Amino acid sequence: MRLIVLFLAYILSLAVMVAAYGATARDRPAPRPSAAMVPAPPEDQAFAQFVRDFRTTAMAAGITPETYAAAMGKLFRNQRVADLNLNQPEFAKPVWSYLDTAVSPQRIADGRALLIGDADILAKIEAKYGVPREILISIWGNESNYGRSMGGYNMFEALATLAYDGPRADYARPQLLAALKMMQREKYAAADMTSSWAGAFGQTQFVPTTFLNEAVDGDGDGKIDLWSSVADALASTANVLSNAGWKAGKPWGYEVLLPKDFAYEEADLDTPQPVAKWRKRGVRTMLGDALPPSDEPGSIYLPAGARGPAFLVFPNFKTILKYNNAASYALAVCELADQLKGAPAIASAWPRDEQPLTRDERLALQNSLAVLGYDIGKVDGLIGSKARAAMRAWQKKHDLPADGFATENLLTRIAMEAKAKGL
Ligand code: CA
Repeated sequence: MRLIVLFLAYILSLAVMVAAYGATARDRPAPRPSAAMVPAPPEDQAFAQFVRDFRTTAMAAGITPETYAAAMGKLFRNQRVADLNLNQPEFAKPVWSYLDTAVSPQRIADGRALLIGDADILAKIEAKYGVPREILISIWGNESNYGRSMGGYNMFEALATLAYDGPRADYARPQLLAALKMMQREKYAAADMTSSWAGAFGQTQFVPTTFLNEAVDGDGDGKIDLWSSVADALASTANVLSNAGWKAGKPWGYEVLLPKDFAYEEADLDTPQPVAKWRKRGVRTMLGDALPPSDEPGSIYLPAGARGPAFLVFPNFKTILKYNNAASYALAVCELADQLKGAPAIASAWPRDEQPLTRDERLALQNSLAVLGYDIGKVDGLIGSKARAAMRAWQKKHDLPADGFATENLLTRIAMEAKAKGL
């Protein structure tokens, strides 16, 4: 599971530190070219010291000196991983661009071929864990393009680089320890343990802590190999979803039509309501029919605000968030799964003319809302639940659809009002 999203807040909060780090690197004199006997740069020495110190932690956790030496003995700080760790994307990718890639015609065609090719494996996993085969194939496609992009970094090098310093150290340290336990328990060769730069590995991109707790031997050969055994990877993924509460035979959700007078402030992933209530509110299926009855509550999810498609999502949708905590990821998984089954694509148009706000714009939005007296928590450039609630309140006050979705138009209007108040 990739945990990148969870640490975005951390990266943003450390922007100042990043700037300072850059300045230090620039001020350092360039190494001399004929460096046969020159001592290692201070950065490398400090990293080597970290690797020595971490050995104590590993020994205390039951890692043998042999395992530690084999995994960590000849390790260098990976500069590319360090750079990626500090890189902060200026724009978040809009959800429709993300879906264009995640649910492309090629992804659908490849996934359908695998549904046929791996039908025996999939039938067994589905029967045991109750997770539909299309969901499993879809997670496989979303995580590694069906095993084509599993990441080619040395897992120990990547995790040790992240654990040494920077915004993901708190995440990477337990992962590094878990990677050592994995190696020792499963008798892997360190060189075979490849991962993404963030330490996720295998066909469905597990992280080491999840591997230790939830990976299973799907093909029954006595070993767990998430790199080369598709049965192991898909059974392990099914086990994660099952443990997260996936309910067999229940839908993830479906696209819906909202009435013109819909109270958009009620559309929130975190506030599920009985389906009977949404029926009363005039929410309908895409064919215009009444919503089918359900014994589960559902949330109205608007990935792109009031101008984009709307979905009624059930608890199974939320279990995918436990696999990867981004609603756009869960939507991509569910949409690809539906289209593997031949279900129609999302029918409503995306507001493709909208550009996601830049970090500066998000900061300006938060500042303006704060000036207008709204509680938006920390001004950190991240649009969280408080900022959304503030935008909804502002929208409601101005008789606008209260979807809490940040757009440039909304920013302009809120900033103008804040300016008039003396910002
Ligand atoms: Ca196996």
